[in-house]
Amino acid sequence: MIQYSLICENDHKFEAWFKNASAYDVQSEKGVLECPLCGTRTVNKALMAPAVGKKSNQKAEAAPQKTMALSAGHPEQQEVREALRRLRSKVESEAEYVGDRFAEEARKMADDAEQKRGIYGEATAEEVTSLIEDEIDFMPLPRLPEEHN
Ligand SMILES: [Zn+2]
Repeated sequence: MIQYSLICENDHKFEAWFKNASAYDVQSEKGVLECPLCGTRTVNKALMAPAVGKKSNQKAEAAPQKTMALSAGHPEQQEVREALRRLRSKVESEAEYVGDRFAEEARKMADDAEQKRGIYGEATAEEVTSLIEDEIDFMPLPRLPEEHN
């Protein structure tokens, strides 16, 4: 399971779960993704900035946040993919890889500010769900299409 932040043509942001990255692509191409707020089917993936504050904190959510939407086949897609690749390699060079202990380490960091550091790793769908329920901030790392090769 993978969670994406999506944004519609009217700037409504919402989250949706997909089985995997290509499930998103398929649904996006078929135009079956729908904004839950206004019902438009012009919906794109929003690139996520690191989350600020807790979900319950409306002020933090209203803070200016850089988002970029990307439609499949758009000429800038290559550029965006390049940016994602740079983001990934930055994370991979600066953050500590914690493998499948990601959820555990993220929890520790949420409990103790002194533990805060950059980490990345893998989490199961259950772990991801429970991190979201506990309002622990994390950011899914985008997978690039060529990684499936
Ligand atoms: Zn909308």
